[in-house]
Amino acid sequence: KNFQSVALIIGVTGIVGGSLAEILPLSDTPGGPWKVYGVARRPRPSWNLDHPVEYIQCDVLDAGDTRAKLSPLSDITHIFWVTWANRPSEAECIKVNGAMFQNVLNSVVPNAPNLSHICLQTGHKHYIGPFEAFGKIKPHETPFIEDVPRLNAPNFYYTLEDMLFDACNKSKGLLTWSVHRAAVIFGFSPCSMMNLVGSLCVYAAICKDENVPLKFPGTKAAWNCYSVASDADLIAEHQIWSAVDPYAKNEAFNCSNGDVFKWKHLWKVLAEQFEVEYAEFDENEKFVSLAERMKNKGPVWDEIVKKNQLTPTKLEEVATFWFADVIFSGECLLDSMNKSKEHGFLGFRNTSKSLISVIDKMKAYKIVP
Ligand code: NDP
Repeated sequence: KNFQSVALIIGVTGIVGGSLAEILPLSDTPGGPWKVYGVARRPRPSWNLDHPVEYIQCDVLDAGDTRAKLSPLSDITHIFWVTWANRPSEAECIKVNGAMFQNVLNSVVPNAPNLSHICLQTGHKHYIGPFEAFGKIKPHETPFIEDVPRLNAPNFYYTLEDMLFDACNKSKGLLTWSVHRAAVIFGFSPCSMMNLVGSLCVYAAICKDENVPLKFPGTKAAWNCYSVASDADLIAEHQIWSAVDPYAKNEAFNCSNGDVFKWKHLWKVLAEQFEVEYAEFDENEKFVSLAERMKNKGPVWDEIVKKNQLTPTKLEEVATFWFADVIFSGECLLDSMNKSKEHGFLGFRNTSKSLISVIDKMKAYKIVP
């Protein structure tokens, strides 16, 4: 088959990597027909088998492994960077994420003569600083707009951007870039390091199993404030748009659904989807984080998996409760989608429907009951 475009997805089993793997091969995807290579370290999970992707098991932190597996792929035209590595300090994040990105650039750029575009996915931490700086540095004014100066704090997102700019500058215009700054992502992936909806599904399933009401494990501010989110399929569409549309080249864009919501409303939706009793936020109750609530629930989850004949998973794989605790710890900071719209991207999602569609997918793949 003659392919017009050839994608390399780094992080193909992640929360957005999975959406790219599903959408890119479709016959009506812009820039297609697409051939797709997808990289992750673990063996290919069963739920990823549906996507027509050449799966490459490779650790991009390992320079030798990356060179051996990626340098022969001379037909790559686009790279989608949808991965990251978490480390205890931002200094280590900078070192490790920088090395991963450099290993891939070193293996692909000199060997893929038709490489034309690189999409880099980052997020709101561009505007508020890394996790370790939360509460210590003043974030940007909301709603976030793309072209504000960087914060004065080390951030691996800045390191990756600089490496990206450098690679494109060296190519003398042959290679273009785009940066996609997501808010909290609503998507399907039991292999994701930060998956809010996955964590909430597991929490709801456990509440249902134990016959207790679904209480909101966050602050009053998080319950009541306006929030924004980014649907994983929408982010994939945004990246594909920037990969093919000349007007989207060499720009950084926010990438969120284009509506606002309140958790007090989505909480009802979540409760309905799992047929568990909905509880209003009660400010007289002592605050208990989700990680704390779910601390000893590994065996309960194992039992739920067995009872409902679910795809085997461990609690710590399928739920990232620490991340839900970060999201529910204060007011959500809003962003603006004006720049994307002005450049021609008019995609959007209804966040409530996005939540339901991710839950439906989690159920369809038998990740949750
Ligand atoms: P995920 O954690 O969902 O996915 C990571 C993917 O990369 C997985 O497929 C994983 O598979 C793979 N991977 C991890 N390490 C390696 C490695 N060394 N070599 C090869 N593959 C690897 O990623 P996200 O989409 O969440 O993260 C991408 C960016 O988006 C990050 O910068 C993140 O901060 C940002 N972001 C994420 C948000 C969210 O809600 N998730 C919100 C806003 C921004 P395996 O483990 O098998 O290797």
